[in-house]
This record gives sequence, structure tokens and C-alpha cells, in this order.
Amino acid sequence: MADKKDYYEVLGVDKKADEAKIKNAYRKLAKKYHPDSNPGDADAEAKFKEASEAYAVLSDPEKRKQYDRFGHSAFDGSGGGGGGFDFSNMGDIFSEFFGGFAGGGSGNSWFDDLFGGRASRSRGPEPSRGADVRVSTRITMHEAFTGTIKKINVNFKGECSSCHGSGAKAGTSPEKCHKCGGTGQVVFTQQSFLGMMRSVGECPDCHGTGEIIKEKCPDCRGSGYKAAAKTIEVNIPAGIDNGQFVRIQGKGDPGYKGGTRGDLLVGVSVTNDTEFARDGYDLFSEVYINYPTAVLGGEVNVKTIDGEVIYEVKPGTVSGTRVRLRGKGMPTVRNRNTRGDLYITLIIEVPSKLTEEQTEALEAFRKTLTGKEKIKGKGKKKGIFGKNQ
Ligand SMILES: [Zn+2]
Ligand SMILES: [Zn+2]
Repeated sequence: MADKKDYYEVLGVDKKADEAKIKNAYRKLAKKYHPDSNPGDADAEAKFKEASEAYAVLSDPEKRKQYDRFGHSAFDGSGGGGGGFDFSNMGDIFSEFFGGFAGGGSGNSWFDDLFGGRASRSRGPEPSRGADVRVSTRITMHEAFTGTIKKINVNFKGECSSCHGSGAKAGTSPEKCHKCGGTGQVVFTQQSFLGMMRSVGECPDCHGTGEIIKEKCPDCRGSGYKAAAKTIEVNIPAGIDNGQFVRIQGKGDPGYKGGTRGDLLVGVSVTNDTEFARDGYDLFSEVYINYPTAVLGGEVNVKTIDGEVIYEVKPGTVSGTRVRLRGKGMPTVRNRNTRGDLYITLIIEVPSKLTEEQTEALEAFRKTLTGKEKIKGKGKKKGIFGKNQ
């Protein structure tokens, strides 16, 4: 951890910076390097993580004090247990900045990829949290619009009913490991050219559990768990986007030695819609208008995700004109009454077959053209000769 950058330096603030300043600095960095805006960019990801770690420490008065006194060694875990930074409270920080949903989890796939979720620690003699269970489901854009309930089959670890999770055969119980005295850790001594080296590691006899099972439960082969399948109804909030997660607390694998259960993470994929494209909470579609309406103006029916609306086309509308219909996009996950916008691109349709009467009318119209009509938009745009006029 010697090459770790100073947290103040990472956020670009000085050591006397107050809470608001630190928050502001992090907000800027987080926005810039957010995985959602830099997909697949490992460098941005590292910077995002670095800034998040710095913020997690400096935004917490107690941790900041420790950091000011001891530097990075305050958190490097040299005091025992695994090393590394504890990201367990990052979920709260992120929900403050980026919003979270469904049980207070981050709800973001990148969050778990980046920070390893709130995964269980290695098995030790202490109770530990169960692992998160991941499943996925597919919904339509209309379901994403309304929100939906999906029945999902989940395979997770269930407690073995024969041994009640102890892993020992019925009538027996696990014994304290003699090698480590039940601590799960042993001190290794090694002869090296520097002299005797001591290091602490997982007990090889009990694999860190602190217990030895003499007679294994035949039903679970000593694991204490059995595969269990269950159908769970998952409430998928309106506004959810492709690739997002719904986190259901306490529906993952059971914890170890009374530790809390892990969470169920439901990855949601939203199928492409034939009518609407989506970007964030905004929707995009194409609306065809006929030539007279484009020239003279008039009403057209516009299909939105929740029904038709009438749009008044302005006279002299050019093909390709994009119009915004406010509040006709997707609802936001946080509040379904707040919605994005619908952008419609107006395209003038060219009929491929006309009746005799229509042809005559168009021919008559053509005869009236003098070539001196004022044409909307002409000459305003950058021409094909690449010169601005
Ligand atoms: Zn069992
Ligand atoms: Zn042991």
C-alpha cells in the first residue's frame, strides 16, 4: 500500500477542507469517472474507485481523524483479518449521490463489480454474512414503464434440515479444532535467510472454521447446506433500465454461524422495443406526416408509451425535425410521477401509389411552382460545399 495516493490529493482538496468542499470535490470526480459514463474504461474505473475510497474516509469525521493521524495504515487491515479497504458502507454513500432503490442496495451492476458487493468474508470462527445470489430476468419496455412483478426461480443454499447447518451427523456435534484452539488461525514459523519469520494464516486442519467435524452429516456431506429452489416474486420498479439490478435484502444465501443472509440481486434486461428507443429516461420515436400537413400544418396522432396524443404540426415543417414532448418519456425509478421526455422525429412520407385524382392534383400544384418560392430552412445550414453561409 506504499504507492497509495494521499486521499486529499486524490480529491484535490487541502487538509483543512470542510465537509462541503470534500463532498463537492468528490461529486465532480464521481461524475467524471462514473462507470456508467465510461463503460469499459479501466482507467476511469480505477480513478472512480480511488476517489470513492478517499471520500468514504474523508467524509466520515472519525475515519478522517484516524487517517490524519496514521495515514493509510489506519485502514490497511494490518491489525488482523483480511487486508484492504472496507467498502461496506459505500452503498449508503452512493445512494446519496446516485440514488438507490429496492431495499436500499446500490441497484447498480457496476457497483458490485467494482466493490465486490457486500460479499461475505472468508469463513472464520466468527459469524459471517451469506453470499449474494444473482439471478436475471427479462422484461419488455412497457413492463419497464409500468413496473412489474416477476416470478423468478432462485437456487440458493438452504440450511440442511438433518444437521440444522452444523454439518455434523445427527446426534453428534462439531468439536473445537485442537490445532488452532478454535480460533481458525495458526501462527506459521519459517526459517529464512533473515531468521525466523512468523506469519498468521488460516488453520489447515479446520480451514479457518475453528471446528472439526468428526462424523459428517450424510445429507449435506458436512457442508451444512443443501441446494434449495424457491420461486420468489420480485417487484421491479417502474423506470428500471436495461442492465440495472434490483437488490432484495436477506434473500440470498444463509449466513455462517448465525450471520445475516446475503441479498438477492436480480439483473434486469429490457428487450428492445420496436417503436421506442431509450436513452436514460428519454424516449425517441419517428412520426410520419404527409406532405400537405408538413407544408400547411395540422394535427397528427402521436403514439406515446402510454397512449396516443395529438400533436399540432407547425406549418412549414421540414422532414427530420425533432420535437420534444415533455413528460412523455419513462418514469424515474425514484418517483414514477417524474418522467423523462419523448423526442419525436417528424418524417415526411412519400406515397408510392396515388389515385388518378391525387396525381392530377399534384400535377396541377407542380404547374403553379415558379422556382421562386421561399423554402424553409434553405441556405441556413452548412451547404454541401462545406461553407457556412
Ligand atoms: Zn447436514
Ligand atoms: Zn483449526
